[in-house]
Amino acid sequence: MSDFLDNDIKFLPGVGPKRAELLARELNIKTFNDLLYLFPFRYLDRSKIYTISELESTSSYIQLRGKITHITLLGDKNSNKRLVATLADPTGVVDLVFFKGIRWYQSTLKPYKEYIVFGKPSIFNNSLNIVHPEVEGVTEEPPFYSGSMMGVYPGTEKLRSNGLGNKQIAKLISHLIKNFLPSLEERLPEYITTAEGLMPLRAALLNIHFPTGLKELAAAQYRLKFEELFLLQLSLLSQKNKRKSLSGGLKFNKIGNYFNTAFANLPFELTGAQKRVLKEIRTDMVSGRQMNRLLQGDVGSGKTMVAVLAALIAADNGYQSCIMAPTEVLANQHFNGIQKILKGTGIESRLLTGSTKTRERREIYEGISTGKIDILFGTHAVIEDKVQFQKPGFVVIDEQHRFGVEQRAKLWSRSEITPHVLVMTATPIPRTLAMTLYGDLDVSVIDELPPGRKPVVTLHATEVQRSKIYSFMREQIGNGRQIFVVYPLIKESEKLDYKNLEEGYQHIIEAFPAPQYVTAVVHGQQKNEDKAYDMKLFADGKANILVSTSVIEVGVDVPNASVMLIESAERFGLSQLHQLRGRVGRGSEKSYCILMTGYKLSKESKQRIELMCSTNDGFELAEADLRMRGPGDIEGTKQSGLIFDLKISNLSTDGQIMEKSRQLAERILASDPALQNAENNRLKDLINKLRNEYRDYSQIS
Ligand code: ADP
Ligand code: MG
Repeated sequence: MSDFLDNDIKFLPGVGPKRAELLARELNIKTFNDLLYLFPFRYLDRSKIYTISELESTSSYIQLRGKITHITLLGDKNSNKRLVATLADPTGVVDLVFFKGIRWYQSTLKPYKEYIVFGKPSIFNNSLNIVHPEVEGVTEEPPFYSGSMMGVYPGTEKLRSNGLGNKQIAKLISHLIKNFLPSLEERLPEYITTAEGLMPLRAALLNIHFPTGLKELAAAQYRLKFEELFLLQLSLLSQKNKRKSLSGGLKFNKIGNYFNTAFANLPFELTGAQKRVLKEIRTDMVSGRQMNRLLQGDVGSGKTMVAVLAALIAADNGYQSCIMAPTEVLANQHFNGIQKILKGTGIESRLLTGSTKTRERREIYEGISTGKIDILFGTHAVIEDKVQFQKPGFVVIDEQHRFGVEQRAKLWSRSEITPHVLVMTATPIPRTLAMTLYGDLDVSVIDELPPGRKPVVTLHATEVQRSKIYSFMREQIGNGRQIFVVYPLIKESEKLDYKNLEEGYQHIIEAFPAPQYVTAVVHGQQKNEDKAYDMKLFADGKANILVSTSVIEVGVDVPNASVMLIESAERFGLSQLHQLRGRVGRGSEKSYCILMTGYKLSKESKQRIELMCSTNDGFELAEADLRMRGPGDIEGTKQSGLIFDLKISNLSTDGQIMEKSRQLAERILASDPALQNAENNRLKDLINKLRNEYRDYSQIS
């Protein structure tokens, strides 16, 4: 029996109610199981002890052994209060510095006693020191860990100063393992562990905490990662199957006048990718099951066009559509951009945003509830309670990551009919991440740009090149082209950013004086009317330059623009830079993206800028971003809460295990869709449990 796993952690000898509370608060550990699955994030090679003379500021984590010679309290409450303990070994001395838990260290660290110290050296005040190392007295009793490797667990100062340092945590785990592991049941069916050559669960848990060797550790890690990713995939895929087996999706069998007339109005031929995706959507729409589809495609690949054509199919079948954008500028652009194509179709389409006037607003509410309006374009305004569709059939959410899950659900929660849903994103998501975040959605990809587009030439520049760049911009304007100049806008330093924008704008109008040049400006602190006015000035070709914050990041379509000048480019993330770059290169002329940065760049910024200059491929950039920063930081995932709490797997490095486990999950569900076979019963319980633990962020309806 494995019942012990759910035991409250306070009942584990050595824990008790006070520490239990602390463990719950600091590490979210509430049960025996939680502790057993708290894995080391690194292993300490206890066989190697460095000498102080070997230390360099570039060393990574190292282990020292020495005596503390003196302990001093420096600074006061207001300025940098810290405890400095000097550690000496026969080769030299090094300062150990503690900013937190001072009182605890003061009472624990004893002069002339011998300690093992583990930490990362750094330079401070021109000398080497180690900030917040792990410190442990040298004892005669043999270590409880086996072999020479000891796990290093996530920990906090609070835990440490309450007697729950790394060693104590490891001790609690060793206790769990000694007393309970023998009764732990295997979680995966035998046919899986055998076929995949997985280490049995008990051995894996033992070796992940107290490795008996490197080979065993690797096998344990593989087993636990496989289990984690496999259960996740099984859960997502069974969810998807379940949704697909439900009937009740609207059937749009007809292709009628609306679609056909608009199609004939198209000034261009659809790309192969657009045709393919439209077909995929159409297949969903006649399947009798509700569509839940994610449409990925680089900026400018023609997603919006596909969405509008699909909305016309809905209209041909007597249903209304709603196309939602994250900003007013973009909603305007969608609406205006599509009017030419809707001409003569008889389609009633309207635009609803925050700045729609009261009278028009009432008209729209009425038109929506009586069914007179076929397609509603808009911003968040479309999810207000007053918007009551008579027959909602199709919902499109553009740039999905800017809408929260609740907001999305609100769109149709009041309706008895569940409309088909298409979520569009121009932020390419690496495959492993997509399999996790959207594992239960169908995915379409537009991987082809409309013909005639030339790749954008991307250049890195610094202040010394500014006058040269301005001459180049004048030349481009002379050729009738337009230019974007973008400043960063980061929430924390908003005031400062606006000041930069203000100064930048002044600077630009001095360098490009009126009346010869017209410069428009758009930013978030403007009134909507002013914003719309300036935006239109630029969109209509009446302004040569548009100075803005990153509000123009999303979707703006001005094919005549040929230069994107990004100021302080080092302050933007990769995917944001890529989005901005996508604003140019929409016409057939050669276009340029100039990344202006300071002289001194961090290693990461430099990497980002170099990557941008080396490729135009959004997916390649997304993969690189994932490698460089890890999944938690990928733009778009954080805002929407699309983060899975993986305990051991890493989406940037474990892609192969993910693929393998997904294939296995697919095979199992193909032969046993409801996991009813006796051998799969356990799996069914496990994924049900998993679902209760994680709120299912990936679900969009
Ligand atoms: P996305 O939404 O993917 O950023 P859009 O649908 O806004 O892309 O399309 C970008 C621009 O390309 C628009 O001006 C649109 O009219 C144009 N466009 C779309 N599809 C095609 C096509 N097949 N051929 C030429 N131009 C196209
Ligand atoms: Mg778009």
